[in-house]
Amino acid sequence: MGLSRRIPCDANRLRAECADLDEDERENARKENNMSAKQNAPSTQSSSKMKPEEYDVVILGGGTGGTVAAWTFAGEDRRVAVIERKYIGGSCPNIACLPSKNVIHSAKVAWYVRKSEEFGIPRRDFTIDMRAVRERKRRMVSGWNNVYLENFKRTGAEFILGSGRFIGPKTVEVTMSHGTKRQLRGTNVIVNTGTHASFEPIRGLADAQPLTHIEALELDQVPEHLLVIGGGYIGSEMAQAFRRFGSKVTLIDRNERLMYREDDDVTETLQSVFEEEGIELVLKGRIKELSGKSGESVRIVVESGDGLTKTLEGSHVLVASGRTPNTQGIGLELAGVELTDRGYIKVNERLETTAPGVWAIGEVAGSPQFTHISVDDFRVVHASITGGKRVTTGRQVPFCLFTDPEFARIGLSEKEAKAQGIAYRLFKIPMEAVMRATTLSETRGFLKALIEVDSDRILGFTAFGVGAAEIMTSVQIARNAGLPYTTLRDTILTHPTLVEGLIPLFSSAATLSEPTGGDKRARPKQKTVSR
Ligand SMILES: Cc1cc2nc3c(=O)[nH]c(=O)nc-3n(C[C@H](O)[C@H](O)[C@H](O)COP(=O)(O)OP(=O)(O)OC[C@H]3O[C@@H](n4cnc5c(N)ncnc54)[C@H](O)[C@@H]3O)c2cc1C
Repeated sequence: MGLSRRIPCDANRLRAECADLDEDERENARKENNMSAKQNAPSTQSSSKMKPEEYDVVILGGGTGGTVAAWTFAGEDRRVAVIERKYIGGSCPNIACLPSKNVIHSAKVAWYVRKSEEFGIPRRDFTIDMRAVRERKRRMVSGWNNVYLENFKRTGAEFILGSGRFIGPKTVEVTMSHGTKRQLRGTNVIVNTGTHASFEPIRGLADAQPLTHIEALELDQVPEHLLVIGGGYIGSEMAQAFRRFGSKVTLIDRNERLMYREDDDVTETLQSVFEEEGIELVLKGRIKELSGKSGESVRIVVESGDGLTKTLEGSHVLVASGRTPNTQGIGLELAGVELTDRGYIKVNERLETTAPGVWAIGEVAGSPQFTHISVDDFRVVHASITGGKRVTTGRQVPFCLFTDPEFARIGLSEKEAKAQGIAYRLFKIPMEAVMRATTLSETRGFLKALIEVDSDRILGFTAFGVGAAEIMTSVQIARNAGLPYTTLRDTILTHPTLVEGLIPLFSSAATLSEPTGGDKRARPKQKTVSR
C-alpha cells in the first residue's frame, strides 16, 4: 500500500519553501516540529538574545476560528500573525471536514454506479481508482489553500508556517525551517491548536501503525478489509465510504448502539442502513489486543456484548475512537494557562484562559468539535476584544453526521426533552412521504419535529434522510427567527424539493409525549392531535 501526501502548499508564494513530502503521514507527524516553511524573512538570532516582535493579536495554531480571526482582526487594522505548523486553514479544509466529505461523495458515486440498473442504466464492470479519488480531493484542498493564502495577502494578516510554543506571558516562539526562530508578543494571544486522534492504550495498537482519518483519506488503494475502531462521526462516515468503495468493513464500538446518545429511532436507522450495506457491526466491543500491521494484516481480539471473545482479521485498521487536545509541549505553563482535568485549556464563558489576554478557541478549548463552533468561538473572543458581549453559554449547536443518508439535528432530541421533563408534540413522517426523495429513490430515514405543547414553538428538529443538513438548516433559521412551525407548514415552498417535505411533516397528525416526572404539563400517552 502506498501512502503519500504533499503538504498543501502549492500556492506560488509558499511552494518553493515548503518541503514536498512524499512519505508516510505518521512519519510526517513525528517531523512536524521540525518541518516548517515561511512567508516572512526569519531572524537568525538565537532565541535568548531575541527581542519579541510586537503584535496586536498573535494566533497560535491556525484552525478555522483562528484563520477567520486573523482575517477579521487584520481587516480592522490590527497587526496580526497566525502561527501554523502545517495546514493552511487548519484541519477542516486539509484533513478533516472537506476532504472527508469529498471522498464520501466519491463513495456515493460508486454506490450509485453499483445500483445503476435501478435507475435504468444497465451496469457495466467498473473499478475504483483510489488514486483518482485522492487526486480529486487534493485538487479541492489545493484550491482552498490558494483561496486562504489570497485572503491572508488581501487582509494583511501574516501567515507564519512554523511550530509555536509559549516562552512567557503572551509571548510565543516560532521554530521555522532549518531551526530559524522568531518571537512574537501579542496584546492578545489566541490559542487554536485543535486536537489529534487518540490512541487508546490497547496492547499492540501503536505497533500496528493504524490509520487515522489523515492516512485513510490519502489511501491510493481500496483496503481489502478495513477494521474501524470507533463508531462516532469519523468512524461511521469512513466505514460507510470504504464499504461503498468495495472494502469489507467491520466497525467496532464500545457502546450498545452507534451514536448512542441520540434517540432510538436515529440509532436504529443508522444501524439498519449500515447492515443493509453490508457493514459488520461489533457493538459493546472491548478490544483486548491487536497484532500485525495495518496495510498488511491485522488481528483484533475483541470481547463483545455477549461476553464472548472473537478474533477479527483485516488488512487495515482505522482508529477513530476519540480526540486528544494539542496542549502538550507548547509551553502553556510558562504563559499561566491552566488545563482542565481532561487536558483541554481551561476557559470561561468568554473563552478567556486563566492568563488574562490569552484566549482559547475550537477543540483545544473543549468546545463542541465542529468547524462552525470554532468559528463561533472566534466571534465570542472577537466580541470580548472589541468591547462587545457574546458568550458560549447556552448557544445553539446544530450538527450533521455525513453518512448517507445524513442525520442532522437542531435543538432538543426526544431523549433530551424527556430528561428535562419537557412535554412536546411530535410530528414525524418517513422520508417516503417526501416527494422529492421518491424521485431520487432515496427514501430511507425520517423527519421529526418537537413542538411546544402550549404554543407552536419549535423545540427541536431531526432529519435522517437525503439532504438532512440542508432541511435542518431551513428549520433552524425559522426557529431562530421565532417563527411558529405553522409558518413552515403554510409557506409556498418550491415543488419538488426536499425542504418541501416540511409541509407534509407539519401537516401530519402529532402525538403527545409521555408524561415525565418533572413535567407538569404532560398529557396522556400517544394522544393524537389534528391540526
Ligand atoms: C475526519 C474529520 C471529519 C470532520 N468533519 C466535520 C464536519 O463535517 N463538520 C464539522 O463541523 N466538523 C467536522 N470535523 C471537526 C472539525 O474538523 C474541527 O472541529 C474544526 O476543524 C475546528 O478545529 P479547531 O479550530 O479546533 O482546530 P484545527 O482546525 O484542528 O486547527 C488546529 C491547527 O493548529 C495547528 N497546530 C497545533 N499545534 C501547533 C503548534 N504548536 N504550532 C503551530 N501550529 C499548531 C495544527 O497544525 C492545526 O492546523 C471533522 C473532523 C475530522 C477529524
